[in-house]
Amino acid sequence: MTTSTNIAVDADRLWRDLMEIGRIGETARGGCHRLALSAEDGRARDLFCSWMRAQGCAITVDGIGNIFARRAGSDPALPPVMVGSHLDTVPMGGKFDGIAGVLAAVELVRTLDERHIATRAPVEIVVWTNEEGSRFSPFTMGSQVFAGQLPLDETLARRELLDPERGLTVGEALERIGYRGTAPVGGRTPACYFELHIEQGPEMARDDAEIGIVTGSFQARYFVATVRGEQAHVGPTPMADRRDAMVAAARLILEVDKIGRAHGPDGRANAPHLELYPNVRGVIPSVVNVSCDVRHRERTVLERMHEELVMAAQMVERVHKVEVALEQYSAFGPIAFDPGMIALLRESTRALGYRHCDILTVAGHDAVPLGGICPAGMIFVPSRAGGISHNEREWSEPHDLAAGANVLLHAVLARAGVVES
Ligand SMILES: [Zn+2]
Repeated sequence: MTTSTNIAVDADRLWRDLMEIGRIGETARGGCHRLALSAEDGRARDLFCSWMRAQGCAITVDGIGNIFARRAGSDPALPPVMVGSHLDTVPMGGKFDGIAGVLAAVELVRTLDERHIATRAPVEIVVWTNEEGSRFSPFTMGSQVFAGQLPLDETLARRELLDPERGLTVGEALERIGYRGTAPVGGRTPACYFELHIEQGPEMARDDAEIGIVTGSFQARYFVATVRGEQAHVGPTPMADRRDAMVAAARLILEVDKIGRAHGPDGRANAPHLELYPNVRGVIPSVVNVSCDVRHRERTVLERMHEELVMAAQMVERVHKVEVALEQYSAFGPIAFDPGMIALLRESTRALGYRHCDILTVAGHDAVPLGGICPAGMIFVPSRAGGISHNEREWSEPHDLAAGANVLLHAVLARAGVVES
């Protein structure tokens, strides 16, 4: 390591700023409701930009709304070291998921400025658009377009999930909050990408680790199962004659849950989202779209879970006299983060004396698409309150966040190179 380990971020300032940005969209019980490209997301972005401008960073916004705050390096020809995460939340979510990673990066820049530390490569703090995928699909939207994994025009034309007929498109929503930028999306390769994120699970707290070195990811496949039955009157239609799409979907959801439970502690299967037509009293539903996914650490097990999902759909077709079309709309993993980045993060953690463990991410993160175009590395800080996340009770301790920000600071300095004065 080229830097002295006695440089540290200001833990109190980091916490204060995290709490300040958390007031934008704050819920009555202390969580945060700040959907991607909402007015609240716009205000959080504005606050981030004002902070970075105050540090003298140059701000650019690209065509999918990703924000880049660039702290110049001594050699402008070098590609930037990127550090970032996201500011959007799920409905009634927490103040830490994503935001902690952005704020740790903001604090890193402040610390460098305060100590007049110059780097050779530029350092860019990034806010990625729509990581959560709650309002617009898919998740990790901004980072996927940046990494060339999603086409820009098609993505801008996507409409709100919760109101696919009258809702805004991504492009319209970006314009409304003033973040449809003019910079080209992607087409450039960062030197590397770092992301700090909360763990969103209970493992680290259980192992008493302060830093999780994320070595790679689980594998996940995401589907929409379209269940088609027949619309009919709920009264006169005899039970035996019904082709009720909702009852069939309910059976499918139970089967999905069973698949997740059948594959040990690493098995995950979810069906968290429904669209239901016509969704009125008095009418047997004709169509239900069930979003579902399967995840596992092992590829062979994931294949088996996928097969079981196909078989469950076929069983539901037979038993409930409906049609079920299973369409895969996304996937990620298995990814292994860059060995050099893992080694560097582990070394920084050790040098700073933090207790750490290796861990895989089960959730999707912006570091996953970034890993497709440059060396990417990720660290987790513990989620307290039993590891709960995507919930208002989501919590991380100030000292845990500061530890993570310190690891990030030293790893970024090692990669960006310190200019000796
Ligand atoms: Zn997140």
